[in-house]
Amino acid sequence: STQQSVTLIGLGPMGRAMAAVLLDRGHAVTLWNRTASRADDLVARGAVLAADPAEAVAANEAVILSLTDYEAMYDVLGPVPAPALAGRVLVNLTSATPEEARAGARWAAERGAVQLTGGVNVPPSGIGQPESSTFYSGPREPFDRHRALLETLTGRVEHHGEDPGLAALLYQIGVSMFWTSMLSYWQAIALARANGLTAADILPHADDTANSLARFFAFYTGRVDAGDHSGDVDRLAMGMASVEHVVRTNADAGVDTALPAAVADLFRRGMEAGHGGDSFSTLVEVMSKPAG
Ligand code: NDP
Repeated sequence: STQQSVTLIGLGPMGRAMAAVLLDRGHAVTLWNRTASRADDLVARGAVLAADPAEAVAANEAVILSLTDYEAMYDVLGPVPAPALAGRVLVNLTSATPEEARAGARWAAERGAVQLTGGVNVPPSGIGQPESSTFYSGPREPFDRHRALLETLTGRVEHHGEDPGLAALLYQIGVSMFWTSMLSYWQAIALARANGLTAADILPHADDTANSLARFFAFYTGRVDAGDHSGDVDRLAMGMASVEHVVRTNADAGVDTALPAAVADLFRRGMEAGHGGDSFSTLVEVMSKPAG
């Protein structure tokens, strides 16, 4: 094969999807996973299972890490002798906070390796797809040199500078929006169900609502960056009344109200800070510091 040879450590759903795509595209792949049996079908397709992490790391310059968290990485790579890690490019696609990612990069540097932090923006089904994307940050040179390999994992790759924390930050911003938004969808389904409607019944309405959000982002972005929360198009006091209707509609339906109550609490704090006449975008300021 003329494709680059690569090591991949971690065979959860994400790592398994990556290994499968790498094999499909003709890469020689060395694997290691704590639970060795998860490699069986991949070995049957031509992957090499290393005896231990040191052997896996020694096999290739490019080492992809797809683990639950950085603790798992230290568990796996901690016992590897430093000389085996020297010169390695650790493509770390493990979810982490920005600070954890920076500490991981320092840990790698102390062993003569470099870390490319990655945040994969798709579920395992998106691996190998041209429209899927991953944020990277860390040293530019190994990113450029391994770009073709990285593009095999997700068709789009974006390098966001040398700070190893930045890819993790951008990833966590997206994940933060994802969890909150998806919980709002589960709430909608619970409310619909309590009223005899199915998830399928409300899907078109849910889609329209979700799709409208991009227009709100576009409208408010410039104003928020300019610190302009004037109440010319919406007022927090109007939002407060609306949010209370949402809480009561959920309460009347007998479903959990924790999520709408948390939303109402944020609106109330904006009201108490005297911003009833301002736009509800003023909640950005409320949310920019810890609750008192
Ligand atoms: P998993 O949590 O399923 O990955 C588990 C992998 O980590 C397995 O290989 C597991 O080994 C290994 N592992 C966990 N703890 C340890 C440990 N202490 N020592 C050794 N190995 C350990 O995650 P996914 O595969 O789903 O995802 C991998 C990464 O990608 C995560 O950081 C996730 O946040 C991120 N990600 C996942 C997405 C998804 O939709 N799945 C989407 C975007 C990013 P074993 O098999 O032995 O348990």
